[in-house]
Amino acid sequence: MNQLVNIGARVSGLFAATLVAGTVFAGHAADSKTIIYVDLDANTRKAHSQLQSLKQLDVLGVNLKQHWAEVAVTKEEFAQLQKLNLSIRKAGNQLANSVAVPDGYLNPEQVVQTLKTISTQYPAITKLFELGKTHQQRSMMAIEISAHVDDTSKPVILFNAMHHAREVMTSEIVMHIAKVLTENYGKDLEVTNWLDQYRIVLVPQVNPDGNALVSNGETMWRKNAYEYRGEVVGVDINRNYPAYWNYCNGSNSSPYGEAYRGPSAASEPETQAMMNLVNAYKPVAEISYHSYSEMILYPFGCSSVKNPSKTLFHSIGQDMNAQIRNDNNRTNSYEVGTVPELLYEADGGDIDWLWKEQGVFAFVIEVNASDFHPDYKKWRNVTVERQEGGWKAMLRRMTKSGFRAHIQTDAPSEISYSLKKIEGNQKIAFDADEPTRTFSLRSSSGLLYQLTEKGKYEVTFFVKNQPVKSLTVNVGETLVDLGDIAI
Ligand SMILES: [Zn+2]
Repeated sequence: MNQLVNIGARVSGLFAATLVAGTVFAGHAADSKTIIYVDLDANTRKAHSQLQSLKQLDVLGVNLKQHWAEVAVTKEEFAQLQKLNLSIRKAGNQLANSVAVPDGYLNPEQVVQTLKTISTQYPAITKLFELGKTHQQRSMMAIEISAHVDDTSKPVILFNAMHHAREVMTSEIVMHIAKVLTENYGKDLEVTNWLDQYRIVLVPQVNPDGNALVSNGETMWRKNAYEYRGEVVGVDINRNYPAYWNYCNGSNSSPYGEAYRGPSAASEPETQAMMNLVNAYKPVAEISYHSYSEMILYPFGCSSVKNPSKTLFHSIGQDMNAQIRNDNNRTNSYEVGTVPELLYEADGGDIDWLWKEQGVFAFVIEVNASDFHPDYKKWRNVTVERQEGGWKAMLRRMTKSGFRAHIQTDAPSEISYSLKKIEGNQKIAFDADEPTRTFSLRSSSGLLYQLTEKGKYEVTFFVKNQPVKSLTVNVGETLVDLGDIAI
């Protein structure tokens, strides 16, 4: 099906210097694009360098096992690529925008309507609310599902989808989570237990404006509906978060770039709404759904920023990987790592902000092996069911290694705590590269909820940054409940 246009032998890294963002590659948003496949070198390091240079273009997805990247290019971009020594396969003369979204995927109005139906049907265990409004005044909706809606003594887990408009499968996954949880409360023991213990907050569409464009024919639209010089060009919401914003050349400065980071950090209403939600709910863990590439990603998006808690993140990622089935129906088949390890530099992403500023164990899951708009009948139900293992693994992880407590205090917002792992006579900071790191409580009612690796920890509490109390916790396979702690 795909015509092979061999542009010459692969020479890796060659065009890293040539393709650095300039006006030539700042493709205009309205330009129609052609989809091409660039063969990546089997050598991981070389493939990585090729990807790094491709990232100035609209990289739709990557298949590391089969060594290719799918890229949407304008005529000018294609002409530039042809001058380089890369193996490029062209998908016919198909224009990216002419690929229709198959019937069945929910548009923004249908998402809101379906959420309303669910909340009407299950009023005792749901709360539907608006977390913000978009540029075009669409409501960004969230649904809290719990037997204890609004009870701040219960830990929160957050799932969101569709930061990127064209990734239509992702909303289906989060809507499916809502369905599974509500329909099985009181019937399935595990689901019942989750809703009795936790507050699960779902945001099925972070970017309804973008998805309205997709539904109306701009099927490859990625960004929001930010206007520049009187024209809707869009900001990439997932390059707009304030942690490491514009930090490592992992986003575009041009408003026409597909990864435009926005005029300033957190400039976008969608970004602000998500940040307000996280500030209010203080989730313990989060999954942000994207498509496609079959990957589980964790912080950080800049290779120059180390994540000292990488081992813990990686093990949670592998827990999920063991339960997610990929498009070939195999488990343990997603790639697990940081964005720069697997793809390229990316700054201003939500998971970086969630972990760095909020202490949330935050992951991106890139679902499906190819295609933003898989055939609905063939892939929708299959995909949402194969993803169940991932979010269920995250919920199951909540009762494994770690500890919780109820801190008795008049001013929970003034309390923080640090962790040190005790090994022999040594005390090692939880985040060894950031020894002064502290965490905040998870709610206004004094909930402390901390996932860790197994081991012995010294926990030091601070009031207004002054140490007031220390205790030792032995963490085994399961979550330790320390009960009430007076500060
Ligand atoms: Zn995405």
